[in-house]
Amino acid sequence: MNVIKGIGASEGIAFGELRAFKKDYFNINSEKIYTKDHEKEIEKYKKSCKLAMKQLDDLYKEAIADIGEEHATIFQVHKMMIEDIDYTNSVMSIIINENSNAEYAVYMTSRNFERTFGELDNDYIQQRASDVRDISKRIISCMSLSRSSNNKNTGKTNIIIGSDDLTPSEFLELDRNFIKGFVTMLGSKNSHTSILARAVNLPCVIGVGGQLRPEYEGYKVIIDSFAGTVYVSPDKITVKRLKKKKELCDRRQELLSRLKGKEDITTDGQKIEICANVSHISDLKAVRECDARGIGLFRSEFIFMNRSDYPTEDEQFQIYKKVTTKMEAKRVVIRTLDVGADKKIKYFSLPEEVNPAMGYRGIRVCLDRPEIFKTQLRAILRASMFGNIEILFPMICSLDEVLKIKHILQEVKQDLDKSEIEYDKNIKIGVMIETPAAVFISDVLAAEVDFFSIGTNDLVQYSLAVDRQNDKVNFMFNPHHKAILRMIKLVCENAKKFNIRIAVCGEIAADESMTEIFLVLGVNELSVSSPFILGIRKKVRETNVSSVREEILKNLSF
Ligand code: PEP
Ligand code: MG
Repeated sequence: MNVIKGIGASEGIAFGELRAFKKDYFNINSEKIYTKDHEKEIEKYKKSCKLAMKQLDDLYKEAIADIGEEHATIFQVHKMMIEDIDYTNSVMSIIINENSNAEYAVYMTSRNFERTFGELDNDYIQQRASDVRDISKRIISCMSLSRSSNNKNTGKTNIIIGSDDLTPSEFLELDRNFIKGFVTMLGSKNSHTSILARAVNLPCVIGVGGQLRPEYEGYKVIIDSFAGTVYVSPDKITVKRLKKKKELCDRRQELLSRLKGKEDITTDGQKIEICANVSHISDLKAVRECDARGIGLFRSEFIFMNRSDYPTEDEQFQIYKKVTTKMEAKRVVIRTLDVGADKKIKYFSLPEEVNPAMGYRGIRVCLDRPEIFKTQLRAILRASMFGNIEILFPMICSLDEVLKIKHILQEVKQDLDKSEIEYDKNIKIGVMIETPAAVFISDVLAAEVDFFSIGTNDLVQYSLAVDRQNDKVNFMFNPHHKAILRMIKLVCENAKKFNIRIAVCGEIAADESMTEIFLVLGVNELSVSSPFILGIRKKVRETNVSSVREEILKNLSF
């Protein structure tokens, strides 16, 4: 047994087989290997198509629930493309006539089809080129599964992904039907990938460096993300111990589930709302299961990821409508596009920057490219008719930005009025307080908006000059730093002065050692990843604010 130590970036224990993350199936699996064993390659191709069809069926069913039948149809189209006779004949012919392996035959077929479609002067057909690439990648990935697991039960094997790093969009690609956790050489607890993992309770250990060795591919591993430990080829005693630990952890969840339907109220009667952070529409199931009071942060940039072009107004509208309808009358705070820094999206063609966290990101991109911003605002406003939506703007540094935003929002509203399209005329707007500048002008900002949401992930990064992505300085990323606590206090005081709602949506909102402080400061809402909702509810319900107030305020005083 080998023991790897790193940082546990989520909570949970997972058992599985280690597989290297294929950054790009086409690069890794498409080399030509000469073979005369045509039967075997054809059989492999057929089996992979069958598995791919099964995956597409599952995706279709999930997508109907998530985004509606109309948009889910793409998975049916993909199934038809896999069965397309020309596509199939091309793969067979390359295997037989060029004596090549099945992976290469699929790769070459994809390239040929993409080229043919791309040359046609028809937008619709040109777009099909990326669908061909997509289905071909899926078929190749199914082949790689069946080959390396060497087992017919391919789709059912539990996999633990090993990788140098994972970007947020790569994370979204993981098929969690069989991927049960991941281990990365790099990474930080505050990156968006770690945030996404926590949101779906996926065990992961990051920052393990060279301890993760290529020869571990295919080994049995256990991830204990509570302890930040990975066991490679674990012995019987370790397996038994971790199974027990997992049982205890499941038992705790079971006990917490008794708090569903209970109020978020302290023993001395102070109320707070515990809401959910959401990055993907598929998180909604967990949001409702964990009994969130609403959605405190919907990170809309993830709608823009893992696609080849900007989502249209209508596509966005459907998603926002779906989210708010599912949440019924509960509040849904949609944060406008916060692209940039670690959330890179290819088709935005963002510039390479030396210091992207301080560069072209968030509201700066939206104000610079109002056509993208206006499309999103129109979609949100239209969806506001179907529930209780509020709009949140990220990365604010100045009053001027807020005034520009309000001006653009007004223009969009007027356009909708002209077209007689309905929207919530009293829609509330808020700003993220995640830069030191926003903290110190929070009295000025409070006069302009309906609510604040404190984003401690970025606030800590910018205040303590610690890159949240950089594992070398991660030990300095300290949300409990007195400077941060004092900033939070100041923002809460200014929010109270102007009688506006104050929320905390950074990862610190889920930190139980901070709950009493937030209550003392009069925070109205904590927005956390769904798996943490009931734990924080328990903490709130056990707290007596009057008995801790004096001591906490003394510690925070200047
Ligand atoms: C934050 O910065 O605290 C925040 C919630 O936003 P994000 O993590 O998406 O940058
Ligand atoms: Mg932020």
